[in-house]
Amino acid sequence: MRLTRTLLPVMKESPADAQIISHKLMLRAGLVRQTAAGIYAWLPLGLRVLRNIERIVREEQDRAGAIELLMPTLQSADLWRESGRYDAYGPEMLRIRDRHEREMLFGPTNEEMVTAIFRDAARSYRDLPRILYHIQWKFRDEVRPRFGVMRGREFLMKDAYSFDMDEAGARHSYNRMFVAYLNTFARMGLRAIPMQADTGPIGGDLSHEFIVLAETGESEVFYHANWERPAALRHVDFDDVAGLRSIVSGYTADYAATDEKRDAAREAGAGDALRQSRGVEVGHIFYFGTKYSSAMGLKVQAKDGSEVVPQMGSYGIGVSRLVGAIIEASHDDAGIVWPDAVAPYAVGLVNMRADDAACATAADDLYARLRTAGVETLYDDRDERGGAKFATMDLIGLPWQMVVGPKGLAKGVVELKRRATGERHELAVDDAVARIAQA
Ligand code: ATP
Ligand code: MG
Repeated sequence: MRLTRTLLPVMKESPADAQIISHKLMLRAGLVRQTAAGIYAWLPLGLRVLRNIERIVREEQDRAGAIELLMPTLQSADLWRESGRYDAYGPEMLRIRDRHEREMLFGPTNEEMVTAIFRDAARSYRDLPRILYHIQWKFRDEVRPRFGVMRGREFLMKDAYSFDMDEAGARHSYNRMFVAYLNTFARMGLRAIPMQADTGPIGGDLSHEFIVLAETGESEVFYHANWERPAALRHVDFDDVAGLRSIVSGYTADYAATDEKRDAAREAGAGDALRQSRGVEVGHIFYFGTKYSSAMGLKVQAKDGSEVVPQMGSYGIGVSRLVGAIIEASHDDAGIVWPDAVAPYAVGLVNMRADDAACATAADDLYARLRTAGVETLYDDRDERGGAKFATMDLIGLPWQMVVGPKGLAKGVVELKRRATGERHELAVDDAVARIAQA
């Protein structure tokens, strides 16, 4: 993409109303624009990041055996009356009336809807187990929307729901999602620590929050120092019940955010390895048994002909919140440092001297070659000084910068800079293209 043809409203100064670094950088780098309190438009660059995150989440859900569908954002109040949550939910729910005075709502979550869909589709044990998920916008009328997309009112969530014949099956579904989450966040370059959590208003008895460490996070967390090691992707067989159980039990050390639990963690041997920090919740998983299936009359026939009320769980990931969380975890004084897997473009091509015909020709040629090689490239072809272009590139944080200037051209080389480390190398044009195409 040529920078002169896209919409990239970068800002030099931090907007006054942004308190945390990710919010400041998202506004400065032209990723989003607030259109109402806690509601954001995703500008072209931000949308590319959001889509990359969504793709990783989807691939890992699919790998774990979950099945994608798409449920609507608007739901009927009657559906929520079936579970008893319509009156219980409180002012976070945005309630709407249609022209026929029918009560509707903008979905804050989808337990009711997915239970109703499954109830109408599933007949017997042959239809289970299933994990259904979608990636859809939610609305929660948060008292204090803040920190940009981290606590928005409208936000994108992946929510999955599991249906099993018995508790052992439900625990296996829970473990599938647990391990899928470890892999999902690791692919984004994040260390997300699973913390045993309270089950809250959704209810149930088994729950973990996945927390990304960040000074500005809203939750206080205690964790084992081992978590500071880079996260590794696991190659797992998701159908292996015992294998998954042992992976999950290896992670259930309970270093959560209460004094009581901290003391327990000390006793459990974390000792000097105990660390305290703040963190951002990027995912939350629950096992809640038959709470919704019993309330909503979901029953299926077992092998022996008896009726069984399926066991359920729900599994959320804050897709739009992750954009902010990744920036909290990966930035420096100059701007964002995107992990390769979620970067909006792989490389930023900079023509240092827009007024130099030879440089412009060489940069145009490089742009064509990168595109032919299948490299996602943002080409800064603006009529601007080199310094301003470098500042923009550092701010928007593409993993590689390729710089074309008159001195290098005379030697037949371009400069390749790795954003994360600042390392620079001069490479022959062909080598530079090949190097990035391989990365
Ligand atoms: P929180 O404790 O942060 O309010 P929650 O526990 O209410 O979140 P869940 O119902 O568990 O949220 O939703 C699943 C995921 O959706 C959360 O882990 C979080 O990443 C994301 N999420 C929840 N609320 C918001 C919000 N207001 N803005 C952006 N993402 C959100
Ligand atoms: Mg939660």
